[in-house]
Amino acid sequence: MPSYAVIACGKCGGYLLAKTDQKTRTCPYCGSKILLEKARKVASAKTANEASVLLRRIKEKAAKAKEG
Ligand SMILES: [Zn+2]
Repeated sequence: MPSYAVIACGKCGGYLLAKTDQKTRTCPYCGSKILLEKARKVASAKTANEASVLLRRIKEKAAKAKEG
C-alpha cells in the first residue's frame, strides 16, 4: 500500500504531497481545504522521498506544458 500521494488541488490545480492516512490537507498555494478522498491523485509513492521526487517531476512537466 502506498502511503504518500501527489494530489492536485481542485480549486487552483496546484500539486502537493499528502500522506494517504490523512483526511484533509490545506493547499499551500490557495489555502483551500482539500478532502483527500475526493482529490485527484496524480501519483502515489511508498516513501516521503519518493513522493517528493515525483512531485518535483510533475511540477516540471506542468511548467513545460504551460510554456508550450
Ligand atoms: Zn489550491
